[in-house]
Amino acid sequence: MRDSGRMLPAKATTGVGQGVAQSYWQRIGGMPLQQGSGTLPRSSRFVVIGGGFAGLATALRMKELDPAAEIVLLEAKSVGYGASGRNGGLVSPLAAPVWLAAAMQDQSIARAMRLLNRKADDAARWANATAPHAEVTPTTLLLEAQGAVTNAGISQVARILDRAEIEYRRFRPRDSKSIKPALAIDANTINPYALVRGLADAARQAGVEIVEGAPVKDIEQEQSGLRITLADGRAITAERAVLCTNAYTPSLSFGEVPRAKVVYNYMIATEQLSPSALERLATVSNGERPFVVELNTAYVFYRLHQGRLVFGGIEKSKQVAPGDLDVPASILAGLDKLLGETLSGAPKPAVAEAWGGRFHMTTTDLPIIGPSASVPSLVLNIGYGGTGVALTLTLAPVAAALALGRQIEDAGLAEIHRAMRNTRLPLAGGVKFVAGVAGEYLRQLRERRNGHVSQGR
Ligand SMILES: Cc1cc2nc3c(=O)[nH]c(=O)nc-3n(C[C@H](O)[C@H](O)[C@H](O)COP(=O)(O)OP(=O)(O)OC[C@H]3O[C@@H](n4cnc5c(N)ncnc54)[C@H](O)[C@@H]3O)c2cc1C
Repeated sequence: MRDSGRMLPAKATTGVGQGVAQSYWQRIGGMPLQQGSGTLPRSSRFVVIGGGFAGLATALRMKELDPAAEIVLLEAKSVGYGASGRNGGLVSPLAAPVWLAAAMQDQSIARAMRLLNRKADDAARWANATAPHAEVTPTTLLLEAQGAVTNAGISQVARILDRAEIEYRRFRPRDSKSIKPALAIDANTINPYALVRGLADAARQAGVEIVEGAPVKDIEQEQSGLRITLADGRAITAERAVLCTNAYTPSLSFGEVPRAKVVYNYMIATEQLSPSALERLATVSNGERPFVVELNTAYVFYRLHQGRLVFGGIEKSKQVAPGDLDVPASILAGLDKLLGETLSGAPKPAVAEAWGGRFHMTTTDLPIIGPSASVPSLVLNIGYGGTGVALTLTLAPVAAALALGRQIEDAGLAEIHRAMRNTRLPLAGGVKFVAGVAGEYLRQLRERRNGHVSQGR
């Protein structure tokens, strides 16, 4: 969506969005503002770079595969500083959106979609067992149509889910005037920063040495392995390393520029919702307390947490705020406007905090997991976009096996990884998808003209 440029009422904007040091999750989880813990050893057999979900889950999975492996994890600031400590917390059951179009024409992709759907649920269970305070909670993902075209789009998604044998439910407008047509799929939510902290605690207990305040600047291949140099000149050598710096990867040099762009995303957390606003939300969500994604150009997403609404929906392809967490007034105003539209008529709560974050997006929105082309002893585990919570946790065993130089043991994960590597932009599938949406839209239009309410898929 475009910035409206409209200012919020003073009450809502004062102190919100500028000079932000932490996200809502990082604040309630007590992220230390002082960065730096642990001493950098001179060498380690393995080094993991980046202390978000990707780095921490990969280090833990490496320890599961080889408990004796010597692993040092280097984090530029403190663990969970990046997107992993700032996101909406949805473990998406449809974590590879590109496959929705590809599955139309390729049954092996429909199969990979189904496998990924089940493996993401397994990963949420693993996260719950590993980090019991991370609030891993079974939830419903509600994909909510905002008009006739997106309603037709939902019908098309339903057909693809049938093909992939992924279960879903439909909510139809006939049930109540205030309920928008929607498609519901079983999912999980987490408290993102609590999960990062829990994974870091588990990694330390498993023997991973975590060094914070350690920004890597250069990675060079030497005869005996890797030389990893920090911004302050300190260095560590390693046999092999895994790069898990996602959208921050452009700040490092290793002789290669991965094909992924940085996307900036913004979120707000409101004050406690009034009972009437809570009731209104329960109504639009058919009585559930789900994670809602509104299908419109803004791509609004929101959930409740401790009586507040955690709400996002504005993305930028260029950095528009000076600080990594700052939110410009125009974006804050845009989010506030979207919030008002979502609550449609119910009293709008004040915005209590706002923060920005960044993720790393490839052309297919699928991650890059594999050896670096320029540094043979380095494995890349980056390119996690808007569904990176599910993907980082699910695919960590793949990155771990590659880092240890082993086969991927789990046949399902190996198949998902193969399908990801082979996915190109599915132009034919995309065209078929759009044609299907158009056909469905016309069908629904005809039915409405003939006085029927659509009940079909
Ligand atoms: C606002 C927002 C909302 C989102 N909502 C969702 C959602 O609801 N569901 C979903 O699935 N996905 C969501 N995402 C995407 C998801 O959060 C990311 O894809 C995922 O967290 C990426 O994890 P990561 O570990 O790869 O990267 P990060 O969490 O960014 O971790 C990278 C780490 O590397 C560290 N680092 C950076 N440079 C260096 C260096 N030079 N040396 C050492 N360390 C370094 C950083 O400090 C950081 O801690 C959202 C993202 C944003 C920004």
